[in-house]
Amino acid sequence: MIGMANERIFLSPPHMSGREQLYIDEAFETNWIAPLGPNVDAFEREIAEYTGAGGAAALSSGTAAIHIALRLLDVGPGDRVFCSTFTFVASANPVCYAGAEPVFIDSEPQTWNMSPEALERALREAELEGRLPKAVIVVHLYGQSARMKEILSLCSRYDVPVIEDAAESLGSTYEGKASGTHGKFGIYSFNGNKIITTSGGGMLVSDDEEALARARFLATQARDAAPHYQHSVMGYNYRLSNLLAGVGRAQLQVLDERVQARRAVFENYRAAFGGLKGVEFMPELPGTRSNRWLTTLTIDEEATGVRISDLLMALAADNIEARPLWKPLHLQPIFERASFYPHSETLCVSERLFQSGLCLPSGSSLTPEQQQRVIDRVHETMGTVAGNVR
Ligand SMILES: *Cc1c(COP(=O)(O)O)cnc(C)c1O
Repeated sequence: MIGMANERIFLSPPHMSGREQLYIDEAFETNWIAPLGPNVDAFEREIAEYTGAGGAAALSSGTAAIHIALRLLDVGPGDRVFCSTFTFVASANPVCYAGAEPVFIDSEPQTWNMSPEALERALREAELEGRLPKAVIVVHLYGQSARMKEILSLCSRYDVPVIEDAAESLGSTYEGKASGTHGKFGIYSFNGNKIITTSGGGMLVSDDEEALARARFLATQARDAAPHYQHSVMGYNYRLSNLLAGVGRAQLQVLDERVQARRAVFENYRAAFGGLKGVEFMPELPGTRSNRWLTTLTIDEEATGVRISDLLMALAADNIEARPLWKPLHLQPIFERASFYPHSETLCVSERLFQSGLCLPSGSSLTPEQQQRVIDRVHETMGTVAGNVR
């Protein structure tokens, strides 16, 4: 119809497989509407199998999973926790819930994730001050794994446990092993925008079964083994519901297809813009495989003559949802007093990425026509020639 706006293209919408309803129906038929139930147990088992983790605890969100991991590591007031700066605020908020102080670590150019150089400086200084962190939260942004070998070796030198925030990297691997299974704890998110979703939910994974049992205990109000309700420690109401776990089970069955689809979206964009001067796509570190949760790229304003804000505006005008990259946490008003360690004295990688980067619509359900629409709008704005979707 003339004058009608083009259909909305979302950044990363939920993509159902069609089998979710079967699990929901079964839960209804057996009246397992309670927070816990067979889908929760099965979903935990299936995530552990998929990732190769020793075990898993299903929780109400990725944020809750980080909070529980910090609690399991006994993080409390007066403690410090090192955290990637280039990430969503949910990576660091649980540090504040625990009453501890976050210290932010910059990114490095090859993975856009935590810089081992900055981490090393931060650890060395912390040791000199006698204030080593209780934990390091490493984020694997947009599906790309951080430099885990370097980070784990530094952390083990200082005997600091690592929590992997793999909220965005379920389905990604680092040296053949699932992202999120390299540190003491890993967390996944099933929020509506993630590669698979339960509408809201999260998972804590670890090889430490005892810690996971404690996680389940803490996440159900820390109920002691007594016939009456008895509590010796403070707990949380953080478990995933049996209904949502059913959705997660059906989603997990199509995770590999979702990864393939997102990687294909990435390759389409790269084929269209990869050759342009001043355009760089998020790299993939050798030895890693990213789920390419979001296609992200940087655009050099001087080389292209185009500002990120121009691109975002042109896409928005055509009803296309695109976004800047995450604003580094050390630049957030809420964390303005937090310490920060840049990649080097002369280079702050995360700030540069934030200034020059954007995320393009990357959903696994994007049609070739929708991808072409995004590609055409970008080419128009940049004054370059449109390529074709392969
Ligand atoms: C989504 C996300 C989270 C939080 O997950 P929720 O399930 O929404 O609480 C944490 N960290 C990162 C990097 C995320 O993208």
